[in-house]
Amino acid sequence: MTEVSHGRPPSGSDLLDDRMLELDRYCWSVSGEFRKVGELLDQDPDAIDSYFDLPGVLLYRFFSIPRRYWPQLDVPPQLAPLLGTSLAQAVVWERFSYADPNVLLASPGPALSSDAIHALADPEQTDRWFSRFAAQPDHTFFAVTEPTKGSAATELTTTLRPAPDGDGWLLTGEKYYVGNGARAQVGLVFCRRAPGPWGIEAVLLDASSPGFSAELLPSVGLRGARISRMRFEDVRVPHRDLLGQHLRPTQRGLHGARQVFYRARPGIAAMALGCAQAVCDHLRGQGLRGDRLSAVEDRIAAIRRLNHRTAADIDAGRVDPHRIAAAKAGAARVAEDATLLAAELLGPASLLDDPWLEKVYRDVRAFEFMEGAGNVHLLSVFQGLLKGRFAGGVEAEGVG
Ligand SMILES: Cc1cc2nc3c(=O)[nH]c(=O)nc-3n(C[C@H](O)[C@H](O)[C@H](O)COP(=O)(O)OP(=O)(O)OC[C@H]3O[C@@H](n4cnc5c(N)ncnc54)[C@H](O)[C@@H]3O)c2cc1C
Repeated sequence: MTEVSHGRPPSGSDLLDDRMLELDRYCWSVSGEFRKVGELLDQDPDAIDSYFDLPGVLLYRFFSIPRRYWPQLDVPPQLAPLLGTSLAQAVVWERFSYADPNVLLASPGPALSSDAIHALADPEQTDRWFSRFAAQPDHTFFAVTEPTKGSAATELTTTLRPAPDGDGWLLTGEKYYVGNGARAQVGLVFCRRAPGPWGIEAVLLDASSPGFSAELLPSVGLRGARISRMRFEDVRVPHRDLLGQHLRPTQRGLHGARQVFYRARPGIAAMALGCAQAVCDHLRGQGLRGDRLSAVEDRIAAIRRLNHRTAADIDAGRVDPHRIAAAKAGAARVAEDATLLAAELLGPASLLDDPWLEKVYRDVRAFEFMEGAGNVHLLSVFQGLLKGRFAGGVEAEGVG
């Protein structure tokens, strides 16, 4: 890897303790090949199939699988207990994305869905889910977005109705922009069983079920995410695959989706920060200096610190959606700004002459939309400001 920060903790990491810093160094040491693999994935996202045994790919696969399901894994034992936490996710996702964000997104594993499983699944469903992903390198999808209901997720229209023969449920509708939707073997689909917010349910879906189809959407950036369109035409869902039947309605479908969103956003922010830092280090590696570069680096450091703080808060059971939104929106924006600055400082031809820069320039634009569009997060930040949630600290830390 070129122009890496040599495994040093990036500035703004002062909230990380020694073990988290060790995890950061470990991730740096196992992501050396990611930049090369990322270039291949940009051409063909399925190229990941040849890299399932890379230590970093394995770490990602098992990151959110509880340790009781792990086989013998080559992860330093002192780091293993950290995996699965939001703070570790912020550290790992950033370091891996510094090398290349596509590798992470293209890799097998339960990924985001694990948080929904923890929130919604009963013990049998939980065991079935994690045993499967521990045993084989399957991909999964987490399908919420619909063609006309992106940011308005609570208005989703994909329906779940009882099968007329009494044998389970029938799923009908369409999902859009779903990562790994056309690749995964199994995943979660959010759907509507009744009107209103509490009428939303989540089901486990086997991609081999009759009536299910999916196609890859053409994309110019972050192609490792393999965003897809999915269609469900009366797909039969067995009774045992409806999640949350043992829970109260307020604890079911939407509740599970929220758990995922809150925990995923610091991860997406970390990915954007990793890319932004890589671009800045790339510029310094080419001998560039100056106030504008320093200003972008300072913003990255400030947002990183905020992101670590929100992630640590989530691990401590304190979820502040406004701070989470601030970190995610700020990270997506600074990643774009870093690439714009690079193209300006290196000259427009740099995007033709430097394939890595050209690729990261395309990749970072996806972060604006992943886990909620920027405007929606800014609205949340504004609501937080009105409630005084940012008073006494965050502004002083210089949020993006
Ligand atoms: C790489 C990638 C991976 C993804 N993976 C998944 C996945 O695995 N599963 C999944 O379900 N979805 C996934 N998505 C979809 C993502 O969650 C949506 O793109 C996102 O929710 C925004 O929805 P939309 O694209 O329909 O935009 P829209 O919601 O239609 O928004 C369009 C524009 O309008 C603005 N806007 C929307 N509402 C408001 C408002 N109230 N006020 C002001 N402005 C507003 C937005 O900021 C945006 O600029 C992925 C997207 C990307 C890019």
